Amino acid sequence: MKLLETARTRALWIVVGVAATALGVLAWTTLPAWPVVGVAVATLVVAVNTVTSRLAKDTCLACGKSLKDATWSEHGGICSHCHQINPPTHAHLAKLDAARARELLEANRQASTNARPDAPASNVPDRQA
Ligand SMILES: [Zn+2]
Repeated sequence: MKLLETARTRALWIVVGVAATALGVLAWTTLPAWPVVGVAVATLVVAVNTVTSRLAKDTCLACGKSLKDATWSEHGGICSHCHQINPPTHAHLAKLDAARARELLEANRQASTNARPDAPASNVPDRQA
């Protein structure tokens, strides 16, 4: 989880730096406190969001390489560089669900073309959960 540790460390130093800067500005100038605090909080939000935005992309959490070549399953993606199993993203889960739905529809269509008159109308199982 090197990428996560790096992001945490960067976010921590950003927080420390912005807080020290805000305290310095308040101590050395006669500016009112609330606008300085507001600018500091806005800077923190933007900077930490920038640091953590990489985590939302398909990036290996161990080595930071792209997961475009990764092998995906319902358990996650295996990084082709370091073989770390990464948690699946919502996009991959949606693709897996769509592929599973197509499989079931195809199986149902084939079953209905081969169905006997007394056979049940559908072989699609009810989804649990
Ligand atoms: Zn990796």
